[in-house]
Amino acid sequence: MSETSDTLFSKIIRREIPADIVYEDNLCLAFRDINPQAPVHVLVIPKQPIAKLSDVESQDHALMGHLLLTVKRVADQLGLANGYRVVINTGPEGGQTVYHLHLHLLGGRQMTWPPG
Ligand code: AMP
Repeated sequence: MSETSDTLFSKIIRREIPADIVYEDNLCLAFRDINPQAPVHVLVIPKQPIAKLSDVESQDHALMGHLLLTVKRVADQLGLANGYRVVINTGPEGGQTVYHLHLHLLGGRQMTWPPG
């Protein structure tokens, strides 16, 4: 089994644990983060269980483009007209805790830089 075959997020895709889903299509799912760091905090994940960004291969380029376009779509859907931040934590030093690739969409407040 791959390291992502049974993460929390795979269970959310399979509807084995609940989530506040804001968008879904055949390739991805978007749901609200359980511990939001901003008024809007949504995770966009591929249904395909890729562990992390550093595992993505050139054959995944269409999927990766789709995930980014989905972030934009969800941001529009949730009214983030003044901007937002997109984050992909990758690996231990990147602060990743769930090993199923996910894009954080954060908005609804002023973001600062640098991140922690
Ligand atoms: P990361 O630290 O980048 O791997 O992000 C994992 C994110 O998943 C964190 O922001 C968590 O709050 C979030 N998270 C963990 N469990 C759940 C869950 N059951 N439903 C929604 N979000 C979750």
